[in-house]
Amino acid sequence: MLQQTKSQALFEKAKTYFPGGVNSPVRAFKSVGGTPLFIERGDGAYLYDADGNRFIDFCNSWGPLILGHNNPHVRKAIIGAVEKGTSFGAPTALENELADLILSNHRYIEKIRFVSSGTEAAMSALRLARGVTGRSKIIKFDGCYHGHVDALLVQAGSGLATLGTSSSAGVPEAYARETIVLPLNDKDAIEAAVAKYKDEIACIAIEPIPANNGLLIQDIDFLRYLREVATREGIILLFDEVISGFRVGFEGAAGLYDIQPDVIAFGKIIGGGMPVGAYGASAEIMAHIAPEGNVYQAGTLSGNPVAMAAGAAQLRELLKPGFYSMMEEKTATLIHPIIAYAREKGYKFNIFSRGSIFWLAFSDQINIRKSNEIDPASMKYFTILHRALLERGIYLGPSGYEVGFVSAAHSDADIALAVSAFKEALDLAYNA
Ligand SMILES: *Cc1c(COP(=O)(O)O)cnc(C)c1O
Repeated sequence: MLQQTKSQALFEKAKTYFPGGVNSPVRAFKSVGGTPLFIERGDGAYLYDADGNRFIDFCNSWGPLILGHNNPHVRKAIIGAVEKGTSFGAPTALENELADLILSNHRYIEKIRFVSSGTEAAMSALRLARGVTGRSKIIKFDGCYHGHVDALLVQAGSGLATLGTSSSAGVPEAYARETIVLPLNDKDAIEAAVAKYKDEIACIAIEPIPANNGLLIQDIDFLRYLREVATREGIILLFDEVISGFRVGFEGAAGLYDIQPDVIAFGKIIGGGMPVGAYGASAEIMAHIAPEGNVYQAGTLSGNPVAMAAGAAQLRELLKPGFYSMMEEKTATLIHPIIAYAREKGYKFNIFSRGSIFWLAFSDQINIRKSNEIDPASMKYFTILHRALLERGIYLGPSGYEVGFVSAAHSDADIALAVSAFKEALDLAYNA
């Protein structure tokens, strides 16, 4: 049995301070049950909780830590920056440094604006799209997440190409009605929406590699089609690459598929574990942003020097030759033996992956491209698996809809340990 006495006491205390005991909902372990781990420290591939348990971590703070925990290059850069002060509210050379690293190695954007979270990046990118087009409606997809932006906390209405309804209390229906929610990977749904709301649509927002509700790999034809429709109709195509950016390659999904979006939103990896987001586009589109243009967007801590130093230190490592092929090899070493084992045992199970992102599907479908193709009942397997893995020193994010991440810090030995733990956990889940 996992010893969790200290985490349990901390969680009880936390519940007296924070709604649900947490500062972000999925951390609360609601969907898997049990007590969240209270983390004391992270080092490389490992997390250590308050009870002194060690876990091989495949959540990696939900994606930012592509180099693993407390990477020495990133730590050094942070300490170096902190020694000179933490915030100035005035420009620093560090902002130029991170921008130069990105813009000179990313062919799909010419200018960038730093913000402090992925939510802020998506929200600002939407405002930019509306400012550039002078239109107000947005297309988003069922199964994509773009942070807790009002206009994007919206679910599909009662039929195809109808306006959305809010998926959170506190989001005015008037905002939800500006958002059209469509199924992923469905060209006809786009055609119908575009025909109906022709000159009202400012933006098509998509995670080009949807990774917040399973890993819903899209047909490349569908993504190319979005580019065509957007160009034809004068709509801004927004790629939300908060997860995929710098993860599936330095140029993210835009580079992987070679599709030029109009605007890209970034977050997670870009800050090296510090709070950073960004959005980028052509110089022409970015000229609409204040103070150059009339789309207002600002931030007291935007371009924060400590965060910029962390981001630059991390991105520099990613630019080293062979980095991404090494990550893909590590991921293959983890998932292939687990998939083979499940097949051999006849378990209806698969692992989908792109780059070093992976997702456990409790299904024998070959493709899952839309959120309604995930059977909610299959999550009962995840609940058992998650617990069994925790008991064996493996940490996954506490929801079966969430993806996992391999980091550069995972050694062959860590991966071998994880593979054998997964096999045992699958046996438990499928024989329960
Ligand atoms: C995490 C995420 C966001 C929100 O980023 P925060 O930093 O949590 O605000 C937005 N879009 C996508 C695709 C994400 O995965």
